[in-house]
Amino acid sequence: MSSSTVITNIAALVTNDPSLGDGSPLGLVRDAAVVIEGDRVAWTGESSKAPATDNRVDAGGRAVLPGFVDSHSHLLFGGDRTEEFNARMSGRPYSAGGIRTTVAATRAATDAELEAGLTRYLAEALRQGTTTFETKSGYGLTTADESRALRVAARHTDEVTFLGAHIVAPELADDPAAYVALVTGEMLDACAPHARWIDVFCEKGAFDGDQARAILTAGKAKGLHPRIHANQLSYGPGVQLAVELDAASADHCTHLTDADVDALANSRTVATLLPGAEFSTRAQWPDARRLLDAGATVALSTDCNPGSSFTSSVPFCIALAVRDMGMTPDEAVWSATAGGAAALRRDDIGRLTPGAYADLAVLDAPSHVHLAYRPGVPLVREVWRRGVRAV
Ligand SMILES: [Zn+2]
Repeated sequence: MSSSTVITNIAALVTNDPSLGDGSPLGLVRDAAVVIEGDRVAWTGESSKAPATDNRVDAGGRAVLPGFVDSHSHLLFGGDRTEEFNARMSGRPYSAGGIRTTVAATRAATDAELEAGLTRYLAEALRQGTTTFETKSGYGLTTADESRALRVAARHTDEVTFLGAHIVAPELADDPAAYVALVTGEMLDACAPHARWIDVFCEKGAFDGDQARAILTAGKAKGLHPRIHANQLSYGPGVQLAVELDAASADHCTHLTDADVDALANSRTVATLLPGAEFSTRAQWPDARRLLDAGATVALSTDCNPGSSFTSSVPFCIALAVRDMGMTPDEAVWSATAGGAAALRRDDIGRLTPGAYADLAVLDAPSHVHLAYRPGVPLVREVWRRGVRAV
């Protein structure tokens, strides 16, 4: 029998179980406690009713919430794109740049360099409260480079995504059909054993709807489950395709027709919004309010990548979503925890209820609302992952 620990004297506890506490979607419990046994939550509720445990930790009247579930990142890459970002934000032209720059640097990196970068960004994310993350390939674009990125990623997370269809590999730029054949053939065979998910960048200049359908369908046949970069830069078929294929998530969702919003609202495909990308490119924000009012499930994630969103901070994304995307603080916190879990089709994370993993963040604040109220302030004071204090 593993020992039990109670974290008590929690001013406000987000459980994401509406049957607890105030009855809201956050299931907010005041003056609360969480009991951990092994790597799982054993009990949550009011402090005064907590069962006896072996150990006791005093949260000092702070807020506790589930660890963030960052369901969309690109952390296997070489180099960086500081100059490109600087030029863009300074209004200066920059001829090179783009995903191809990172592809060249990633191919040139050693396995150890890729893994060192991944480890660094994961530690950075953990310090900011992220206890689960998804990450993707997509900067190798050869069979060998894509499969090695996935092997490295799989040493650090179960949520690994094959994104061979990020862009057409530069050497096949004149023959996209040949690249789609590679991605759905030899590359998929080599990558499928190391991944849970398959993803496509469905966008003008990347892959059209028919190509995306062919790639995701091939992935499904190999046991991978689809998710899609959809409707980021322009209107397009990505969201409808995501719903058609029962993708776990349609990611970005910045340019949506009413039919796209309806399709998401009437499906179990989550709309994952990635405001770091709009922030870092000065682009139009996705309209979270419209999706929520229609009844769609919304997740918030970082899209951490060296080109268009080089942030690992979920709290920053929460602040942006509240300030600029029409979300309430409660909705944004739900979307960054339970919403992320839904986007990964997981029910053992993103909530603090019996049976879930004991993944949680303690804030140096009395309420989860402070994540939006105090933007840019490092409020995450402690992080517990799998029942162990990690930060
Ligand atoms: Zn992305």
